Amino acid sequence: MITVSDVKQYLYCPKIIYFDHVLHVPKPFDQKLETGKEKHDSITAKEKRRKGALFYDQELDQAEKMFRVALESNNLGLRGILDYLVRTKQEFIPVDYKFGFSHNGCIHLNHKYQLVAYAILVEENFKTIVRRGFIHYSRDRVNAQIDLSDEIRRRTLKMIREIGQIIEEEIEPVSTKNPGRCMDCEYSRYCVGSQSVD
Ligand code: SF4
Repeated sequence: MITVSDVKQYLYCPKIIYFDHVLHVPKPFDQKLETGKEKHDSITAKEKRRKGALFYDQELDQAEKMFRVALESNNLGLRGILDYLVRTKQEFIPVDYKFGFSHNGCIHLNHKYQLVAYAILVEENFKTIVRRGFIHYSRDRVNAQIDLSDEIRRRTLKMIREIGQIIEEEIEPVSTKNPGRCMDCEYSRYCVGSQSVD
C-alpha cells in the first residue's frame, strides 16, 4: 500500500518513491515532522473548541468534526490519516494542516494533489462525493479552498497508478526538473544525481 504522503513526495521528486519503496533506505529524521506533531495537537485543540470550523461558515455551526481520520482503499492500494474531516448534512469537507506558508495565499501544487487523494479516500470510505476541501497553512493563517473537478480526480488517480508502477516494476524514475529542490531534499545523501550546495 502507498500512502497519501507518497503523492506529495512523488510531486516533489519521483525518485523519493524509488528510494523509499524500492531501495528501502533508512528514512531520514524529519525535524519538521516532530515539530508538526506538536503544532497539529495545538491546532486540533483550538478547532475542537471553535464554533463552526477554521474556514468559518454559518452552515458549519452544527457540523460534526472528526480528527485524524484513518482512511484506506484496497482498490487503489492507498491509505492515509486525514488531519480533519468536517461532516455536515450536505457534505464532507476534508482539511489538511500544513505548518508552513501558503504560496502567496494559494495552495502549493503538491499539497493540492495530496488533498485530492484524501478526498478520493473520503469518497470511497463514506460513499459520498466530495465537492471541496481546504488546506490550512498555519504560518500565514491561510485557509485555501480547492474545488474538486473530474479533471483533478483523473490526474490524481493517474499519479497514484504511476507511483504503484515505480514500486511494482522497480524502475528508477527521472528526477525532478527543478534542481533547486535537491538542496532541501532529505534524500539527497542517497541520490547520485542530486545538486550540491556550493
Ligand atoms: S536529491 Fe534531488 S533528485 Fe535526489 S531525490 Fe531529492 S529532489 Fe530528487
